[in-house]
Formats: sequence, structure tokens, C-alpha cells
Amino acid sequence: MTQPEDRCVLAVDVGGTTIKGAVVDEDGRFRHSLVVPSQADDDPVKAVRSLCLRLRDDALALGVTPAAIGVVTPGIVDEVDGVVRYAANLRFRDVPLRALIGNDLGLPVAVGHDARAAGVAEAVAGAARGLDNFLLLPLGTGIAAAVVVHGMPVSGATASAGEVGHMPVYPGGEPCSCGQRGCLEVYASAGGLARRYARLGGTPGSDSRAIADAVATDPVARAVWDDATQALGTALATLTLTLDPARIVLGGGLADAGALFFDPVRDALRAALAWRNPPPVLRSAFGAQAAQVGAAVMARREAGLPVPDAWGAPELVPPVG
Ligand SMILES: [Zn+2]
Repeated sequence: MTQPEDRCVLAVDVGGTTIKGAVVDEDGRFRHSLVVPSQADDDPVKAVRSLCLRLRDDALALGVTPAAIGVVTPGIVDEVDGVVRYAANLRFRDVPLRALIGNDLGLPVAVGHDARAAGVAEAVAGAARGLDNFLLLPLGTGIAAAVVVHGMPVSGATASAGEVGHMPVYPGGEPCSCGQRGCLEVYASAGGLARRYARLGGTPGSDSRAIADAVATDPVARAVWDDATQALGTALATLTLTLDPARIVLGGGLADAGALFFDPVRDALRAALAWRNPPPVLRSAFGAQAAQVGAAVMARREAGLPVPDAWGAPELVPPVG
């Protein structure tokens, strides 16, 4: 029988740009990582399957035996059936990931949604540790939320809960790729911020970090930054009134800007809530690794292994407040 110290789980985060895989040991540490482009192959499903096989072989070469694998993707993910119903960026439609990868690897497979998995990680060992009711919004290429209620990430009636990126924040505003206008992610995702900045005459090719650095001196950067934080504050007010979360956790590139970002978001949220106090708004503890840590937690649960409190906690937990 495999001893715990010789055991691992495999964790895979499939994104629109890259597929990230990790061998995660018994203590939640990443023993080994692999990153491949998701669009290198004509067939993105094949790219995911071959990365999973490589990851298993790498684990065995390290002398650890995988107990299960967790794979998370964006889009509409049916976690019960292990099927990705639809993921536009990945060109996935009705992909039975659990069956495919289970066949390839002969391991238990957990399939999950990337933002909900990130919420799982933050609840076990991150900025929402120990909380049963909270929201996590990674502000990346787009925006999807993990909505955790009574300790469970909510997936909704059609596995598409949490798509708050398409919440209207400026009715009749700028067009969104979804076909609507004035959506949150047009203004407050890292991708949307960069697109607006370029379109309004900002320095071409600037990412959200460069825009944050320019806020103090560049009026275009200032304007798009203010729109982003105001839009997000408005959306968080709606979510707070609907769900009454104990905490809101923000991740992604914009959250890396610290007080420049969090102060106006908190102000906008407070201003939009006339009769109640806003919940604390904190930065994600796991950052870009959150979904992968969540995939590892899901894999352990799939294998029937315990997930102790603070399992996989990052070395550097950001200050609370
Ligand atoms: Zn939209």
C-alpha cells in the first residue's frame, strides 16, 4: 500500500492561453509544474489529455504515486457528470473530460470550474479560510465569480452561476463580446481595461500593470481605472445585496495593484450601500495559483483523502484588511 509520503494528486488548470499542471504532494506543496500553450495543437482536448499523461509520468518518475487528478476549466462545467458543456475560449463543447482522462490515466478524476475551484482553495487555506458564505472574483481575461453559500460553491440550474462578468453596470454602455452592452468585464477585467485604455488613446500594448503604474500621471489611465473601480463597486453592491457574503475576495492582475485598486473599490461599494455595512473586500491569497490548488483539493476529495484546514496554504498570506 502507498504510504502518504509517497502519494500525490495531479492538478490541472486549463486556461484560454496556457494549460498548467502540477504534481501536488501530501502537504499541498507543488513538487513539479508543467505549462503548455492551450492552442498549440489543433485539438485543445488532445493538448489537455497529453499534458495529463505527461504529468502522471513525471509524478511516477519523482517516486510519488498519483491518487487522483483534478482538472478545472472556464465556461459551463457540469461537475456532477464531469463534462465541459461549453467553453468559448477553449473551443470545448460537450467534452466528457472525466471519462476521457479517467480512461487515459486509470485514476479518479474530478472536473471543475476554474473560478469555483479557486473559491475552494481560498476557503480551505486562503483569504476566505473558514468562511461558509463568500464571493471570489478573479479579474482576469474575463470575470467569473465563485459564489459560496453555506460552504458550497453554487453552480446553479444550468451550471452557469457566477457569470457576473456580464452583469450590466453601465446600461447602454460599451459593447461586450457576449453581444450585450455595458457589462462589468468590459470595464473591470484586466483584458477589458487594457482594451479600453488602448482605444481611448493610451500607450498601445499596455497591460493592467502598466496602466496601474500610469494612473498618477496619465489622464487616460486615470479615467479607465476610475471606470473600472466604480463598475466593480457597483457590481459588488448588487452581489452583496443579493447574497450577503461575509467577505469578498478579489484576485487577478488588477488586485496586484494593492491600495490603488482596493481603496476606490471599497469606497464605491460603501457608497452604493446606503443602509448596511459593506463586507470586507480582500485580496486573494493564492493569486494565479488558486484554481490549481482548488483542483488539487477536488482531486483529494475525489480520492477520499482528507483535506485538513489550511492544506496547501501559501507561504505568504497577505495581510487582512
Ligand atoms: Zn457581456
